[in-house]
Amino acid sequence: MEEKRLKRRIVLVPVPAQGHVTPIMQLGKALYSKGFSITVIQTQYNRVSSSKEFSDFHFLTIPGSLTESDLKNLGPLQFLMKLNQICEASFKNCLGQLLQEQGDHDEIACVVYDEYMYFSAAAPKEFQLPSVVFSTTNATAFVCRSVLAKVNADNFLIDMKDPEVQDKLFPGLHPLRYKDLPTTAFGPLESMIKVYSEVVNTRTASAVIINSASCLESSSLARLQRELQVRVYPIGPLHIAASAPSSLLEEDRSCIEWLNKQKPRSVIYISLGSLALMETKDMLEMARGLSNSKQPFLWVIRPGSIPASEWTESLPEEFGKLVSERGYIVKWAPQMEVLRHPAVGGFWSHCGWNSTLESIGEGVPMICRPFTGDQKVNARYLERVWRIGVQLEGELEKETVERAVKRLIGDEEGAEMRKRVIDLKEKLEASARSGGSSFSSLENFVNSLKTNNF
Ligand code: UDP
Repeated sequence: MEEKRLKRRIVLVPVPAQGHVTPIMQLGKALYSKGFSITVIQTQYNRVSSSKEFSDFHFLTIPGSLTESDLKNLGPLQFLMKLNQICEASFKNCLGQLLQEQGDHDEIACVVYDEYMYFSAAAPKEFQLPSVVFSTTNATAFVCRSVLAKVNADNFLIDMKDPEVQDKLFPGLHPLRYKDLPTTAFGPLESMIKVYSEVVNTRTASAVIINSASCLESSSLARLQRELQVRVYPIGPLHIAASAPSSLLEEDRSCIEWLNKQKPRSVIYISLGSLALMETKDMLEMARGLSNSKQPFLWVIRPGSIPASEWTESLPEEFGKLVSERGYIVKWAPQMEVLRHPAVGGFWSHCGWNSTLESIGEGVPMICRPFTGDQKVNARYLERVWRIGVQLEGELEKETVERAVKRLIGDEEGAEMRKRVIDLKEKLEASARSGGSSFSSLENFVNSLKTNNF
């Protein structure tokens, strides 16, 4: 039940990318249901629209921020760095204006900014408003970023070029190996280390909230709490606490009709999220392996995800033939609905944190093929810690693809993974219910907001 309006406003600052917009809008919904008003201050690129779902939210745009063509020219890492350089002053103006108009609006209680929008820290400090960092990944990835922020880039690069080192366990981060650390495919190591040192610096923030739950990573959460000077609130998975559809792309619902015609737990759903790219040769090996496995598959191929191709036009004819036998392709799917569908038996994922939480939340085991950053951490945890996934490493080959699909769908091993993921799903649901750890953490956070005592 919704609580009475508090006349207090939370300002949210999302990163303009689907995997960040989704959880921050869910957080907005959760806080709105606790009686706060919500203002979203966003950049020009990838704006969330004030749809029916968010008709009670107030949206503002930071003028002069970057556009889609800047993203194409700069790539995601440089885009993010530039955004942080140019938005600090305009964000300060935006927030200052809001404060001036405060008489007409509810009083601002706090600014909650995505950890990657670190330019947002300066303005609340100047206006003496509390600010809170929102981490859309998990505590393990946060801890890894703190470690990477401190490495010497030259030495680390030498280490990482050695295949023997890559396979070694990284000291103090068991079971992560060097190659599982959240390095990025989107730019040079030096830039990444610079960004990580900004991200893990909580600056003047009063707290960190994190879209994770203690049943998933209690020791990383405890370590993070020890390492940070401020209180950490694990309040996830937010998609269970507060659904808030905020798809930036149009969902193709025809895939649900296609799923309706498939046998229970037979379909492999394939999606690599909103940013990952695919090589043509890998896609062919995937299609061959999937075809040989004889399992039906639903494949999201995002426009622009195959280099030098608008959509699928550059793929060879063989790909089309293999897919037409047992597959169905869409440009963007209603992912939550797909994962919930009884026909879906496994999720081939890049292991973005939202996709990981959504898959566990629906009790679907995974084939893990991480692309970059924290996805590698998540993939390792899925395979080795939660034991609900099969990770595909190295060159993709049709035989390994076929074998992975069979392990997940057909074998006894797959049945064991399914049991474990259903057990974890129940734990996640319990943590989001009254009395559960994430539920209580959100309550504590809300009380801190109300009393300004973090
Ligand atoms: N998603 C979707 N439809 C798709 C593919 C992805 O709705 O066809 C959503 C998915 O449910 C998730 C988000 O996009 O909430 C992707 O976030 P994630 O953290 O998994 O990956 P990222 O896009 O940040 O790499």
